[in-house]
Amino acid sequence: MNLGMSDRVRPLVAAVRDFIDERIIPAERTFRAEINDGKRFELSDKQRQILDDLKSAARKQGLWNFWLTEPEAGGGAGLSTVEYAWLAEEMGRSQLAAEVFNCNAPDTGNMEVLLRYGSDQQKARWLQPLLEGQIRSAFAMTEPGVASSDASNISTTGIERDGSWVINGEKTYITGAGDPRCAVMIVMALTDPDGPKRQRHSQILVPTDTPGVEIVRPMEVFGTDDAPSGHMHLRFSDATVPLDHVIAGRGRGFEISQGRLGPGRVHHCMRAIGLAEKALDLMCRRGLERTAFRKPIAWLGGNPERIARARIDIDMARLLTLRTAWEIDNNGLDVARVWISKIKANVPAVVTRVIDDAIQLHGAAGLSQDTELATMYMAARALRIVDGPDEVHAMVVARDTLNPYR
Ligand SMILES: Cc1cc2nc3c(=O)[nH]c(=O)nc-3n(C[C@H](O)[C@H](O)[C@H](O)COP(=O)(O)OP(=O)(O)OC[C@H]3O[C@@H](n4cnc5c(N)ncnc54)[C@H](O)[C@@H]3O)c2cc1C
Repeated sequence: MNLGMSDRVRPLVAAVRDFIDERIIPAERTFRAEINDGKRFELSDKQRQILDDLKSAARKQGLWNFWLTEPEAGGGAGLSTVEYAWLAEEMGRSQLAAEVFNCNAPDTGNMEVLLRYGSDQQKARWLQPLLEGQIRSAFAMTEPGVASSDASNISTTGIERDGSWVINGEKTYITGAGDPRCAVMIVMALTDPDGPKRQRHSQILVPTDTPGVEIVRPMEVFGTDDAPSGHMHLRFSDATVPLDHVIAGRGRGFEISQGRLGPGRVHHCMRAIGLAEKALDLMCRRGLERTAFRKPIAWLGGNPERIARARIDIDMARLLTLRTAWEIDNNGLDVARVWISKIKANVPAVVTRVIDDAIQLHGAAGLSQDTELATMYMAARALRIVDGPDEVHAMVVARDTLNPYR
């Protein structure tokens, strides 16, 4: 079992690291400064220019669609999940990097769905521009009115009427739906309420400009709206799309969801590990350069233990995630499922703890706008809920562990 960097991916990791340090991180400051009070979910000309320039430069260097393990499908590098995981860790250090390399959620998950389950027509209309980075997309499952960690609760209806799907309901926390480039959503809808439990839902492609699709409000995370992409509360009022907008066929929504989130959770976890490495780096620098009670802060009280714990926990989290990636590559998603739940239940919690300790070691500055730690904390903390809360994944692991004893 080789979890290390292959000869093929090592130069890509170095190229991605240099590109992030030299081009993306300096541009990020200007990009963020452009987020405007009045028009938070519009991209300014300058922001569009920054993204376009970075994306075309990345693409020219071949740093594009790394997540795409089938190169013939549209210009991916044909990497394994283990190889891609190393790149995702690098991307975790920067807020814009994943998008610049066309490896950002939820687009990657949506592209995977279209690649695996989409019709030729759906691929031509939506997959191709997504692979080119020309449009963005959203995935709309969670609802304000029901506990959405249990997908069987999803109650937005999709009713077949006069050769169309008519969609009614509300969705919440829909990432990317505020981005003006978001052209399409995959909507999880209840289409067959009387069918078997796992065949009641379908996934339907809904262009964002469909009449009856309304952005109710941007949802906040710890008081911030994550503009310009955002996490939107949406309302569907008789939003009508043609019948051929259903993906893979009626009643297959559950099946598609299972396939969609597997590799995506590895991507999320490795990016989160990149975030934890950044927090540890900040913690070490600050801990050694600042002095209290005549000692560097790193050596005061429980801080050496905190730093050691962070080092150990990050290394363990990385190994578990790479092992999960290896399971996907070698044994397929069905076998890897329990591994995916192990990392999803563990890595975001580890990363949140490391960032929390880094904040503590920084004192008030750790909570302020002068370091990135507060923003990093929000992202990591949200990850303990996004794509299914810790507990749901722990339940999968518990079931698998107890199974042999039944
Ligand atoms: C920043 C952000 C971005 C998001 N992006 C998207 C998106 O793009 N698309 C989308 O559809 N959704 C998105 N979500 C929503 C997210 O996926 C859901 O919030 C999540 O699946 C949980 O659903 P819920 O909020 O309805 O919680 P609920 O289902 O109400 O669960 C609440 C709590 O109940 C407990 N619980 C639930 N099940 C169990 C169990 N089996 N055992 C023990 N305890 C349990 C857990 O503590 C859980 O946190 C996003 C959320 C955030 C914060």
